[in-house]
Amino acid sequence: MDRSPEIPSCPFCRIVSGETTAKLVYRDALVTAFRDIHPIASTHILIVPNRHIGSVDDLEAGDEQLVGHMVLTAKQLAANEGLATRGYRLIMNNGVHGGQTVYHLHLHLLGGPLARFALK
Ligand code: AMP
Ligand code: ZN
Repeated sequence: MDRSPEIPSCPFCRIVSGETTAKLVYRDALVTAFRDIHPIASTHILIVPNRHIGSVDDLEAGDEQLVGHMVLTAKQLAANEGLATRGYRLIMNNGVHGGQTVYHLHLHLLGGPLARFALK
């Protein structure tokens, strides 16, 4: 079980708390969104829960609102970035074989012409 309000060594907890700077694009009571440090498409934003949840595998019953809010936030940010007409990708990697490298749940929002080819 990998759930707690905050884990000091977690890079995304440090962004949420403001200890590490990031290019923030949105924040509310549940989620924070910021630009990926190594973008693989012209828009590459990560949407993360403010509290530490390691991965999809650590989600529990009761997290439906949080996960739905992550997706709806991605939709709103896609609209803000001008991606609504041409489309975008939402990706959530889970575990080693899923390609997850940061173990704080996050949703990738990828947009622009390269988004469809981006391997993430
Ligand atoms: P994943 O492979 O799904 O775990 O994706 C983790 C993503 O986090 C990668 O695309 C990284 O480029 C990104 N990343 C790691 N550290 C930071 C950071 N400090 N600020 C912004 N993005 C980061
Ligand atoms: Zn964390």
